Amino acid sequence: MKAFMNAVSHYFDELHWPSLHQSHLTLDDIQPILKTLSSDTAIDVSLVGHSYHGRPIHRICMGNGEKRIMGWTQMHGDEPTATAAVLDWFNLLASVPEHIAESTLFSQCRLCFIVMLNPDGAQARERRNAQSIDINRDARVLQSPEGMLLMQEVKRFAPDIAFNLHDQNPYYLAGDNHVHKRASTMAFFAPPFDAQRTTDIKRQRAKQLIADIQQMLTSYFDVAIARYVDGFSARCFGDTIAGMCSTILIESGARHDDPCRHTARKMNVMALHYATLAVVMNKPLAAVSGYYDIPENIEDGMCDVLLRHVKLGKPEHHYFADISINILQEGACITDIGDLAAHAGFTEKACDGWRLLPDNPYRVSQSLTLTTSRYRALLLQGYNRFIDSDHKLTIQTSLPVVVDTWSNTGIYSPAVVGSRPALLLTQDQAPGLAIIDGVFIDL
Ligand SMILES: [Zn+2]
Repeated sequence: MKAFMNAVSHYFDELHWPSLHQSHLTLDDIQPILKTLSSDTAIDVSLVGHSYHGRPIHRICMGNGEKRIMGWTQMHGDEPTATAAVLDWFNLLASVPEHIAESTLFSQCRLCFIVMLNPDGAQARERRNAQSIDINRDARVLQSPEGMLLMQEVKRFAPDIAFNLHDQNPYYLAGDNHVHKRASTMAFFAPPFDAQRTTDIKRQRAKQLIADIQQMLTSYFDVAIARYVDGFSARCFGDTIAGMCSTILIESGARHDDPCRHTARKMNVMALHYATLAVVMNKPLAAVSGYYDIPENIEDGMCDVLLRHVKLGKPEHHYFADISINILQEGACITDIGDLAAHAGFTEKACDGWRLLPDNPYRVSQSLTLTTSRYRALLLQGYNRFIDSDHKLTIQTSLPVVVDTWSNTGIYSPAVVGSRPALLLTQDQAPGLAIIDGVFIDL
């Protein structure tokens, strides 16, 4: 098994699809690859249905054995990592089968994966489908064509193991009792099938498989892996399908300096392959306790920038706080202020000895061209942002600049939860560091 997994790790680097190295994927990205894979006689690519807007939904299958392994990806349109991973995996299975499994693999198992269940959401880079329905909350009433299709496919295929493949936002932290607090690059869950959260033989096997997969992954990847805490939701697909077969939720997550989630993508390939081999070889599985040893997946435990122990407030009444900043698609934002000792940042700064300067907007009253040097000079003078009610400011610097068209008078501290970060820090009197929109500018 170890030799096969070593080979998967090696051949992934060689055979993954370079064109899928993107932070987002749509149907246009995967269609040429599906076409290439379909020319391989061992792979069966078929059109299984259409999205609400009529986009094709594809199923990709291999093998004709007894053990049935199923999965579906990108039911949330903006969660593409496993789509790339499943296409990579099938490429490995077709290209180098002799290196990564016994020759009997495909006479012992059948693989069936729906790739990009929500192509409309993918096109719009949105979680929901074109009806604005969250497909993963549609398992009970089945009002989306995509949800209906998934349920039909699961019933038709009757898998032994089902993989529900998602992406989580980058701000999940693995556990809170570790010396090195890190983002969870992958999180697992064996969902319950009832409100009592019963563990039957199917769910027990899912937990054991997860424990095993986690151990295997840990030997290849220096990343944090987490486990979702038990919760049941009758309208979710994972929970519903957990009543039919062993069901494993995988959430691909972030890693520092890995915006396309290449690490999680490879981890998906290795997890899927390992589970398949374990099932086919009837490998004795790990103890269930291994599942509970995986640290909990903690929502909002991570942030993009964490400033620790900043001195805040007026000189006569100062206090200390940590400040967290997230850099989101819609812009940067201060997300929390206070005791964030249990949190971690992708970028952190220990601010002992640093004091936050008061809010001091520069009011643009006549035409001003803001070159980098002019901007730096103004930051050094203690101006942290600009108020440009008459649109007289021309920005000619690539550095981030916070510009407001209005003045919020009376605010002393620029550190306010929900606001754009325009922070100037000092060690004596003069500003020494600016943190504008989450970007550090040494002054
Ligand atoms: Zn999701």
